[in-house]
Amino acid sequence: MSSLPKRIAVLGATGSIGRSALEVISASEGRLQAVGLTAHTRQQDLLKLAQTFHPKWIAFTGDAPSEPLDADCMGSCKPMFGMEAVTSAVGGEDVDVVLAAMVGSAGLETTWAALEAGKTVALANKETLVMAGRLVMELARKRGSAVIPVDSEHSAIWQALRSGKKNEVRRIVLTASGGPFLRHTAAQLRQVTIEDALAHPTWSMGRKITVDSATMMNKALEIIEARWLFDMDADRLAVVIHPQSFIHSLVEFVDGSIVAQMSNPDMRLPIQYALNYPDRQPQVSKPMDWSTPLSLTLEPPDEERFPALRLGREAARVGGTSGAVLNAANEAAVAGFLSGELPFHEIVPTCDRVLQHHDFDPTPTLDELVRADRWAREEVNRWVLA
Ligand code: NAD
Ligand code: MG
Repeated sequence: MSSLPKRIAVLGATGSIGRSALEVISASEGRLQAVGLTAHTRQQDLLKLAQTFHPKWIAFTGDAPSEPLDADCMGSCKPMFGMEAVTSAVGGEDVDVVLAAMVGSAGLETTWAALEAGKTVALANKETLVMAGRLVMELARKRGSAVIPVDSEHSAIWQALRSGKKNEVRRIVLTASGGPFLRHTAAQLRQVTIEDALAHPTWSMGRKITVDSATMMNKALEIIEARWLFDMDADRLAVVIHPQSFIHSLVEFVDGSIVAQMSNPDMRLPIQYALNYPDRQPQVSKPMDWSTPLSLTLEPPDEERFPALRLGREAARVGGTSGAVLNAANEAAVAGFLSGELPFHEIVPTCDRVLQHHDFDPTPTLDELVRADRWAREEVNRWVLA
């Protein structure tokens, strides 16, 4: 039995996942406690959260607040500045679980530090595994640290895997909503605006992952995430389109049984499961309404219109530097799209070109992955955004 309350460091506390996690913590009746909070921008929001949740520390990883901090408001909460402060705080004795919910490859350093210190990591930041999955999972094994998925598909798989043994799994099937452009023709995809891409039909999320869902790069990243998290070959990871987002993923066992996990689409559920794991707690999300008809559909993805999936499968299959390069190219291309410099339909082809041109290394070190990440961003900026 773990001692209560579980003390949680929420990295990326002002984001979509961070705020949902704080709702889960509020509703936990003292089982969970926020011990540290970080934010990169929106410094005032972080200060407000500090006044509500009374953490032991808060950290500003981007710019410091423009006004000096009011000592009376801060109470016993220690303000810290910069990423190095977070990498050392996550290993502190007062932290039980680190919720990794920063966005992008910026999340790697702190997750690495938490695992190195033997902490349990509740992982929302899929980019960490996309970039350095092999090394991150090796580190977790070496240190005896647990990596518990927060991503809804991976949480579903994690739960479904409890139905059998690892060698009884035939295949993992990730569901994808298909995003806002599921039925768009290739011609319509060329007309997509920033506003269109930020309007997801079933999930409300941060801007980067919302664009990733629209290109289906999110599912490509999730194939790579699953490859490392579950140590499953890429050819045993399938994707199926499920626009209603009730089935969060499925596991097929060798006897033909398929175990799925379902719920209303609400990230508070996988967050709550990860933070309380291995226990379940009374739900914070809305229960299913079985009194109204519910139609669920499953269909194969169209890889002609959504070629990102092929890139994800390729990077999952070959490993090495591919995940880091694909992830960084995508981050730079999405940033280019959101600043109006790159058309929507060029995001995935840009990632493809950078991936095909990179100097592949099958067994990179962490430093080499960081260099590959930097190279890929520079390539996107040099070729496309110049
Ligand atoms: P978001 O943009 O809403 O929030 C990101 C958080 O990270 C903010 O607190 C921000 O201040 C911080 N941040 C931004 N840039 C940073 C940097 N360079 N260094 C340190 N901190 C930084 O994003 P989100 O939607 O909450 O997603 C967070 C992570 O969770 C992503 O990796 C995403 O892929 C993953 N995820 C999100 C969802 C979802 O429903 N939102 C679902 C599954 C997985
Ligand atoms: Mg997901």
